[in-house]
Amino acid sequence: MKSRLLPNELSKKKKSNNLAPMRLHAYVFCDCLEQGRLKRPPPNPEIVGFLRNGDLGYFRASPEQHAAFVAWRRHACRHPEGVVTGGQLGHRLPRQVLHRAMSPHSRAFPLFIRKVLGCKPHTRYSHLTLKQVEKLQVELVRLKNFHLADRKTERELRCYYGQMRQLVRAALKFHKPIAM
Ligand SMILES: [Zn+2]
Repeated sequence: MKSRLLPNELSKKKKSNNLAPMRLHAYVFCDCLEQGRLKRPPPNPEIVGFLRNGDLGYFRASPEQHAAFVAWRRHACRHPEGVVTGGQLGHRLPRQVLHRAMSPHSRAFPLFIRKVLGCKPHTRYSHLTLKQVEKLQVELVRLKNFHLADRKTERELRCYYGQMRQLVRAALKFHKPIAM
């Protein structure tokens, strides 16, 4: 059943609003459903389930159930649409530029380079598992004191560093994957 769950409206919206196709977005979703911290229960709990990226989805919803789910999800808990933190990754440079600059260092930062900088966004279930998040945390400690010589790529790298640190912290706190 799990594999047949559909991503909810939020992920669809993210896709259609994404004007620059190579931009990568990453999110951590909350655990309010599991922890019983919802403001109100889902309208059709029997069709609601977890996606592998930590988001909630539904199974075989009618158009009415879909609409009810979307409306509920928006204000189901204190996290708007269930998002703890996240957004667009990077700042100014195309991701490939940083990917290229970092690729000689793939031994020190395998996950960051392969799974983040080299990620193909919006392949419905792309995400970093909790185990990968733990490894990424170790890479980020190393990344803190690692610098690129070129000023522009270094600035971009620092931006990714800050964003990934925030995502990793949230993922570990909520025991959730990082959805991308
Ligand atoms: Zn929540």
